[in-house]
Amino acid sequence: MTADPQIRDSAVKAVHHQFRIVGAGPTGALLALGLAQQGFSVVLHDRLSAELLLNRSRAYAITHSSRRLLQGLGLWAGLLDQLEPFRTLRLDDCSAHRTAWFNVRDLRPGNRSSEAIGWILDHRPLMHLLLERLEASDQVVLQLNDAKPAEEALTTAGPCQWIVAADGPRSTLRRCAEVPFWSHAYQQGCLTAKLRLTGADQLCAYELFRPEGPMAVLPLGQDRYQVVWSAPLQRCRDRAASSSAELLSALNEILPDGLNAVQLLDDPGAFPLELSLAPRLHRDSLLLVGEAGHRCHPVGGQGLNLCWRDVSDLLHLTEAMRCGEMAFPSLARRYSRCRRFDLAGVLLATDLLIRFFSNHNPLLMPFRRLALFMLKHVSWIRRLSLSAMTDGPGALLKPLPK
Ligand SMILES: Cc1cc2nc3c(=O)[nH]c(=O)nc-3n(C[C@H](O)[C@H](O)[C@H](O)COP(=O)(O)OP(=O)(O)OC[C@H]3O[C@@H](n4cnc5c(N)ncnc54)[C@H](O)[C@@H]3O)c2cc1C
Repeated sequence: MTADPQIRDSAVKAVHHQFRIVGAGPTGALLALGLAQQGFSVVLHDRLSAELLLNRSRAYAITHSSRRLLQGLGLWAGLLDQLEPFRTLRLDDCSAHRTAWFNVRDLRPGNRSSEAIGWILDHRPLMHLLLERLEASDQVVLQLNDAKPAEEALTTAGPCQWIVAADGPRSTLRRCAEVPFWSHAYQQGCLTAKLRLTGADQLCAYELFRPEGPMAVLPLGQDRYQVVWSAPLQRCRDRAASSSAELLSALNEILPDGLNAVQLLDDPGAFPLELSLAPRLHRDSLLLVGEAGHRCHPVGGQGLNLCWRDVSDLLHLTEAMRCGEMAFPSLARRYSRCRRFDLAGVLLATDLLIRFFSNHNPLLMPFRRLALFMLKHVSWIRRLSLSAMTDGPGALLKPLPK
């Protein structure tokens, strides 16, 4: 332990710190578990009941940065049966008529032993495991189905209490605390649907760049897939409201040759997309985590992974605080600072991808063909882009954590 008396004193006091987390979505729940494992006491509050928290029809693309976090928290083994790996990623520029493939060899060596570029994980088994572990923890008080206004947390916070806003993109806490926030609504929205597909490679994820917006086709096991289909918002809503035969036929017109959508498995949903960021992820003892602090376009499946890298970085800092390597008043400032590069990098990169590929602009076509040509033929470019996607841009210049 350090000899600095101020920091040593902090370490002793750190265990008395309490974290009050508002929002038990995948970000808040995972953070609560991590903090509890470090010995902090945590109150986790959500206005939804456990059943409603479980009941979202969505699936997440999981990257290697998320794998490392889940492994570190002892959750990976419990999810293995539910994780659907993909070993190749096919990228199509449908206007430039070019295709590039990524495979496991394009990962950094430290990631290759997992033999997957990424995994698709359904929301329900993830939340089921998180809630089960939270209920079993002596360190966590779960307050679900609780109508208490979130902003009460701000007025009742004690001197050793951190308030964490994990209450999603419309965060009440962020607004009540008047944390500066910047937001830009995309013209594009997004339709998500689960369906059965024939003719697809079960170990392949597809990303199609189309003039109206990108579309991802993600394997859920056997012949089940999730599509994440971006297009102008009203068009997404019209498609979501159309009959299943109309939607399947619209999909079959644009899916790559050989793929055939045969049955819808859930009710498609359409939602608006935005690019948003709180330049500072804190104010006094309030910390913004996950979509309460930022949001990006779903292209490249970055959203939840970016939220979980907030969790990972925050847990590193709280661990340093617990071990006496950092004075606790600096937690909020250090957290905001260490997330800056990763967040700015991902928000910028996803936004540029949308601007570059979601059009039919003939002036851009030669550059798009060149980009796909380079991806197809130059292995270090594939490695660099895949590493930025799966480990985060902040990890590009660093060795991978063990
Ligand atoms: C409709 C929709 C579909 C999506 N589909 C996909 C997809 O297919 N794949 C994918 O990877 N990502 C998808 N996303 C994005 C993904 O869901 C987010 O990245 C992820 O949920 C972020 O997690 P979070 O915990 O930060 O926020 P959230 O999941 O939004 O969780 C916030 C939690 O805070 C609670 N809360 C909010 N306000 C209060 C309050 N005042 N008091 C108490 N509790 C409160 C909410 O009940 C909720 O449980 C989708 C998002 C939306 C909106």
